[in-house]
Amino acid sequence: MQAIELYNGVQVPQLGLGVWQSGNGETLQEALSAAFDTGYRHIDTASFYHNEAGVGQAINNSGIDREKLFITTKVWNADQGYAATLKAFERSMALLNTPYIDLYLIHWPVKGKEKETWKAMEELYLQGKVKAIGVSNFLQHHLEALLLDCSIKPMINQLEHHPYLVQKDLQEFCRQQDIRFEAWSPLMQGGVFTIPLLQDLASKYNKTIAQIVLRWNMQNGIVSIPKSIHPKRIAENYDIWDFEIAAEDMRLIDALDKGQRVGPDPDLFGN
Ligand code: NAD
Repeated sequence: MQAIELYNGVQVPQLGLGVWQSGNGETLQEALSAAFDTGYRHIDTASFYHNEAGVGQAINNSGIDREKLFITTKVWNADQGYAATLKAFERSMALLNTPYIDLYLIHWPVKGKEKETWKAMEELYLQGKVKAIGVSNFLQHHLEALLLDCSIKPMINQLEHHPYLVQKDLQEFCRQQDIRFEAWSPLMQGGVFTIPLLQDLASKYNKTIAQIVLRWNMQNGIVSIPKSIHPKRIAENYDIWDFEIAAEDMRLIDALDKGQRVGPDPDLFGN
C-alpha cells in the first residue's frame, strides 16, 4: 500500500475505507472484515457517524497489530470549543477502545470556535494521544485564519473532492503550507458513474470508473477514502496499483471540474 507522509513524519496509507452511512452493526463488521482481508489498513470514521464502537470492535477482532492500522475520527460541530473537544475526544477513544488515534480532525469549521477547538487538538497531539491532527472542510480563508495563531499547523485537510470539484487553487495552497489534501466523496457519492469521459477512460485502461477516479487521486498525491459496504466493490476500489493513467488523461479528468458539490458548502454549514 502506497503511503503519504505528513510533515511530522507520520505515514498515511493513501487509500482508506470511509464508513459514513455504513451502520454500526453486522453490515459494518462485514465491510471492515472484507476491507482488512483485501489489504486496507486505513479507516475513516467520525463521532457524527455513530459507528466508532463498531469500528473499535472490528479493529480488535481483526488480529492486525494496532501500529499497522491508521484510524481517523473527527470532532463534531456541537462538540467544538476547548473543553468540549477534549471531552468529545475521550468519548471517541472509549468507543473506539484504542490506546491512541492516528488522525483527529475538526469535522467542519464552526465560526468563532475554530481556534479554541484547535488549541484542544494541539494539546491532544502534545500529550501523544493522537499521532496527527488536522481539519476537514477548511477553505483557504479558514486555513489562513487558523494559521495566523496556531502553534502546530494542521497536517491534513479532508475535503469534498472528485472530478466535478477539483479545487486546484486550494490544493496548491495546502501544498505550499505542507498540509496534505484528502478527498471525501471521491466517487461523488455515485455521481462519477455516468460521466462519459470516465466511461471512455475505463474502456481504454480496461478498468472500472471507480478505479480510474481513485487512481487519479493516487497519482495526484491525494489521500482518498471511498465508501462501500460490498466486499466486491471494496476489493475493486483497492485494485488500482497495477496501472498508470497517462499525463494527458490526468489533465482531461482535471478539466471536468465544474466547482459542483454533492455535500454542503463549508461557508454555509457549521455556522
Ligand atoms: P463516495 O464518493 O465514497 O461514494 C460512495 C457511494 O459509491 C456508495 O453509494 C457506494 O456504494 C458507491 N460505490 C463505492 N464503490 C463503488 C464501486 N466500485 N462501484 C459502484 N459503486 C460504488 O461517498 P461518501 O460515502 O460520501 O464519501 C466517502 C467517505 O468520506 C465517507 O464514508 C466518510 O468517511 C467521508 N466523508 C467525510 C465528510 C467530511 O465532512 N469530512 C463528508 C462526507 C464523507
